[in-house]
Amino acid sequence: FNTLRLILGDQLNPAHSWYKDKKTNTLYVIAELKQETSYVKHHIQKICAFFCAMENFATALNQAGFNVLHLTLNETCNDEDLPALLTRIAAQHQCNTIEYQYPDEYRLKTQLAHFANTSPLTVSGVDSEHFLLPFEEIKHRFIKDKHITMEHFYRAMRKQFNILMDSNKPHGGKWNFDSNNRNKFSAADLAQIPPPKLFNNDVSAIIARLNKHNVSYFGKAAEQLPWPTTRKQAISCLDYFCLYLLPHFGQFQDAMTEQSKHNSSLYHSRLSFALNAKLIHPLFVIKRVIAQYEQRPNDISIAQVEGFVRQILGWREYVRAIYWINMPDYATKNQLKAKNTLPPYFWHAKTKMNCMHHALCESLTTAYAHHIQRLMVIGNFCLLTAINPDDVDAWYLGVYIDAIEWVEMPNTRGMSQFADDGIIATKPYAASGNYINKMSDYCKNCHYKVKQKVGDDACPFNSLYWHFMHTHRAKLEKNPRIGMVYKNWDKQENTLQQSTLQQATYYLNNIASL
Ligand code: FAD
Ligand code: SF4
Repeated sequence: FNTLRLILGDQLNPAHSWYKDKKTNTLYVIAELKQETSYVKHHIQKICAFFCAMENFATALNQAGFNVLHLTLNETCNDEDLPALLTRIAAQHQCNTIEYQYPDEYRLKTQLAHFANTSPLTVSGVDSEHFLLPFEEIKHRFIKDKHITMEHFYRAMRKQFNILMDSNKPHGGKWNFDSNNRNKFSAADLAQIPPPKLFNNDVSAIIARLNKHNVSYFGKAAEQLPWPTTRKQAISCLDYFCLYLLPHFGQFQDAMTEQSKHNSSLYHSRLSFALNAKLIHPLFVIKRVIAQYEQRPNDISIAQVEGFVRQILGWREYVRAIYWINMPDYATKNQLKAKNTLPPYFWHAKTKMNCMHHALCESLTTAYAHHIQRLMVIGNFCLLTAINPDDVDAWYLGVYIDAIEWVEMPNTRGMSQFADDGIIATKPYAASGNYINKMSDYCKNCHYKVKQKVGDDACPFNSLYWHFMHTHRAKLEKNPRIGMVYKNWDKQENTLQQSTLQQATYYLNNIASL
């Protein structure tokens, strides 16, 4: 071989131009590495999903006639890091050139760029050909440290890619159907929720390997991993979504229920891992969904399809651009100076707060929680209790099946913790128990009383919400989207204000026993 091509664990894109023709002098290397298991402590299902998908991808490439070297932890355990591995394998196979696809993570991009500059071999990178917005375009559309409205970006993307457009007008007469999408589940709705599409990927050998090499992890293992780890499974997950879930996707997008112990994904697609590992292309997903809408107009309304397309064409591309235009500074942002640590129930879900119990339990059991659980329950709790965004980031990056820093960090540090000086959100996603009660059935079986602000059993989210608003008044008061909140606060009796703040202080001082 004269060329070694490195395939990272989230670069499992079979449509990449690397695979247009089979070069006999090229060796493709795909390797389980300890450095990738240890940059943060991960949920075991997340590590298993990546290792399993990598193995499947290596097998598929091999079967297609490419020269592939798939290395497990057994073969790489003595390589200190990725550059060490590449140097060793290149020497072993007499390769004088190393090629890689640009990583989506700053950490890896820096590591490989440094390797390229210092290695005596010829080392170069190529585009990963996955995102819709070319990397080079980011700097023309985004400005470091500046808020760029997602909705404007999304509309420009709709036009540019001619998605849901009737000539130059938005299909259905509106760009955004979010206001149609705020339903809570009734008892009858709950009975209708289809089961999730689960797979049975045997990862027992991977789990044994992780244990053999003392890889540290947390969360519930699943020997039959339910996540899609091949392109075929990803497409079948997408088809299942289109058939059974898309008709109600938008309608119940924000709804939460405690009746979902074994189905935390509800009407959500479960495609994030497959998308982020690049098993499936975002445009492929969007086109398939729109084709279904066109074929089944009586089943699927525009509000459902637009809501879904906005997540992928809008939010997903937007957060990636925010990440790259603002890194590395973004990783240190903490505008609210939050410095508390995560309470222990983030690791075992034993808390009297029913909403937190369910959202944490589902996260720890399935490596998944849907968007509103991540944002308005767990994220909201961290925001109101001033948890250090470094700790929040590390937990989110570790726990979720789909967590890769380019998408995890802007969502967590930016959108949910408002730590980024408002680069993503124009106001913090802070909410009292009232919001959680409006969108879920969690409160009715909770130890705490959602209607109470003070008293032994008062819902912690209520006093903590006012405490947060009070603490950050100087920063938030002038924000036109928040001003009303302070008018409501000022109308309250001084004694009620004081007891609310005291209640919050008590909860903050006793956060571990909530
Ligand atoms: P669906 O609800 O079916 O949505 C379809 C797809 O849209 C998703 O698969 C995803 O690719 C995309 N999408 C939806 N919302 C977003 C968003 N806000 N940003 C980027 N893409 C989006 N998503 C990740 O992929 N990785 C993460 O690490 C991650 N961390 C998050 C942390 C927080 C605090 C929050 C609030 C959101 C986070 N998200 C993350 C976004 C979103 O919650 C997940 O993409 C989604 O829950 C994945 O489940 P799904 O595939 O069933 O999504
Ligand atoms: Fe959560 Fe408060 Fe509702 Fe309990 S009462 S479930 S703590 S919002």
